[in-house]
Amino acid sequence: MTTWDTDLGRVLGAKTGKALESALGLVSVGDLLRHYPRRYAERGELTAIAGLEIDEHATVLAKVDRVSKRSMRARRGTIVEARITDGHRSLLCTFFNQAWRERELVAGRRGMFAGKVTSYRGNLQLAHPEYQLFTEDADVSSVAEDFAGALLPVYPSAQGLPSWSIARCVRQVLEVWDGMQDPLPDELRRRHGLTGLEDALRKIHQPQDHGEVQAAQERLKWDEALAVQLVLAQSRSAAEEHPAPSAPLREDGLLAAFDERIPFSLTAGQREIGERIAADLAAEHPMNRLVQGEVGSGKTVVALRAMLQVVDSGRQAAMLAPTEVLAAQHARSLAELLGELGRAGELDGAATATRIALLTGSLPAAQRKQALLDAASGAAGIVVGTHALIQDRVGFAELGLVVVDEQHRFGVEQRDALRGRAGDGVSPHVLVMTATPIPRTVAMTVYGDLQTSALRELPQGRSPISTSVVPAAEKPGWLDRAWQRVREEVAAGHQVYVVCPRIGDEESKPAASRGKRGSDVDETEEVDTEDAGADGDDGRRQPVSVLDVAEQLRTGPLSGLRLGVLHGRLPAEDKDAVMRAFAAGEVDVLVATTVVEVGVNVPNATAMVIMDADRFGVSQLHQLRGRVGRGSAPGLCLLVTAIPAGTTTRERLDAVASTTDGFELARLDLQLRREGDVLGASQSGRRSGLKMLSLLRDEDVIAEARAEAESVVAGDPQLGAHPGLARMVAEVVAEDRAGYLEKS
Ligand code: ADP
Ligand code: MG
Repeated sequence: MTTWDTDLGRVLGAKTGKALESALGLVSVGDLLRHYPRRYAERGELTAIAGLEIDEHATVLAKVDRVSKRSMRARRGTIVEARITDGHRSLLCTFFNQAWRERELVAGRRGMFAGKVTSYRGNLQLAHPEYQLFTEDADVSSVAEDFAGALLPVYPSAQGLPSWSIARCVRQVLEVWDGMQDPLPDELRRRHGLTGLEDALRKIHQPQDHGEVQAAQERLKWDEALAVQLVLAQSRSAAEEHPAPSAPLREDGLLAAFDERIPFSLTAGQREIGERIAADLAAEHPMNRLVQGEVGSGKTVVALRAMLQVVDSGRQAAMLAPTEVLAAQHARSLAELLGELGRAGELDGAATATRIALLTGSLPAAQRKQALLDAASGAAGIVVGTHALIQDRVGFAELGLVVVDEQHRFGVEQRDALRGRAGDGVSPHVLVMTATPIPRTVAMTVYGDLQTSALRELPQGRSPISTSVVPAAEKPGWLDRAWQRVREEVAAGHQVYVVCPRIGDEESKPAASRGKRGSDVDETEEVDTEDAGADGDDGRRQPVSVLDVAEQLRTGPLSGLRLGVLHGRLPAEDKDAVMRAFAAGEVDVLVATTVVEVGVNVPNATAMVIMDADRFGVSQLHQLRGRVGRGSAPGLCLLVTAIPAGTTTRERLDAVASTTDGFELARLDLQLRREGDVLGASQSGRRSGLKMLSLLRDEDVIAEARAEAESVVAGDPQLGAHPGLARMVAEVVAEDRAGYLEKS
């Protein structure tokens, strides 16, 4: 029997088996059958050379253009150079001391050439190429056989294992493979019009036409989507089994008292999500909810109302923020919103009042001790902090709810670490808030263990933000004009942010983002841009720094204005003092790193100048500019860049300038980023096992698979009655483990 698990060596011989394992990590028949072709070549069609990427191991169908032989001067020997072409561009193949190649590589002959694509003096080369030429009179050569079908599969290949060798291995395996049982129930397959798995696997490797490729891809995508969604549905259903502290609404509690004194009326979205959260919190099982809300949509109030409901039930709420600046600001604005309701034990505290404790890594010892005490005794109903809240052994009297603000800075592991904090096998409720809109497909996969709701509308009376790109290299005059605008804003009584990618107190070290889980220092420092270097920026100058820019502005275009400096390496008290001064209007212009990116709220700030804006990612820029336009005056955001027009990087900046719809931008960001990054360890802690499924293009499949998984798991949580599906899940889980192992 040749089954899915049969060793490749047994089918193909030990030598070939070893080659497949060492070059591509393929061990079993199943591994090889899951090694899908990257694309398909048609008979007579040449591969577009312009589409190749440097350093890629590529297989191209090309025609020999001309061949030359010369002798090497330094050493004795010959070089044969063959120029191959797709009719438009050409590639150079070089062979050392293989003079006979000249006779074989006759101009006009076609064949497949494989090798690593390199660039030498502006010419594209194939290094150490391997090739197979097509015979004009279709005799029984192996290439003619490869072309038996009209479409020739082109595989991801490796040195020593060109595409055509892989194709031959696949052919041999398919000849002896005894097939497999379909893991999908027949009924489900029929309902979605999916072909059988064995059929799909055979056709993906040996299609007769494009229709067959498509049918096969459809089925294979479905399997991937369904497997992931089954895992997520199981995880949701397991979480629901856990007991959680139920916190029913009270009519006479803090929340009710707070609702009486909110200075504005809630937006429809805030009210609707609030009701949903209230119901979640009253349940016996933990809430796991993600609220995505546009920048400035008022998520803090939503979180506060949830926290009060939990405090009303005699438990505590913890709120995690990504930076010290933000934690401090949250503690301040919560205290402001609560007023006397947040001053328990103080003279003017209300009878029902609670207390807010701020707990960060760099608090002075005495304050820290008090905060720890308040958390442990339960005196503080609300504890606000940074990572320190999870890292240190902060004890809570009775934790009922964890709010994680600005989720994109937290990993899944950190979310999980908090869940273990309620004690006694009880999980606290978890509310995750993010201002980075997440495309639906990503929400359904990466955050698939959370229920999600979106807050799209902004409170009334917000002013529009207009954004422009300032091309400092092409139009230096525009930058002068930008500083003039800053002066005008200040003259009108407003305040301005100037954001730089770098602090500038370090010795010139390569700009790199720091570890996420390290210290309690604001980790948004330095070039934290996901895509600094996206343009292969060898030799690109260092981005400008806060300290340099502040100095230049002070003595130059902004002289006479009150400038403040803010970055993550300032001592905590200084940071706090600067932020306070800026909030109080005692600083006109705040020159800062991305510490101001998330959540900072100073409504009188109306303009932002982002220096070397190309160093930031799309969503980061969107976040940053969300700091302005929070009051009644219109906001202005200037994206300063030295990158020339016509590049992808400039396109990205133009896109940010063209819309303030975060959801639209998120979609764009997803398009510009490589998909691997979306599902990559950085965001999900999980390696992507997706080969066929695309988060960009396959929204329908993902949504259908999700619904299907939901209903299967609802009726059969352990999948005991669905052995095929259970096997698919086991595969995903096994791959997950491999991912974790690799990481540690
Ligand atoms: P974000 O969603 O970006 O975290 P915040 O919660 O910081 O936004 O809210 C931004 C500002 O809007 C705050 O000053 C807050 O008090 C105010 N705000 C929130 N909800 C409303 C509302 N319904 N009406 C008016 N202002 C509101
Ligand atoms: Mg916020």
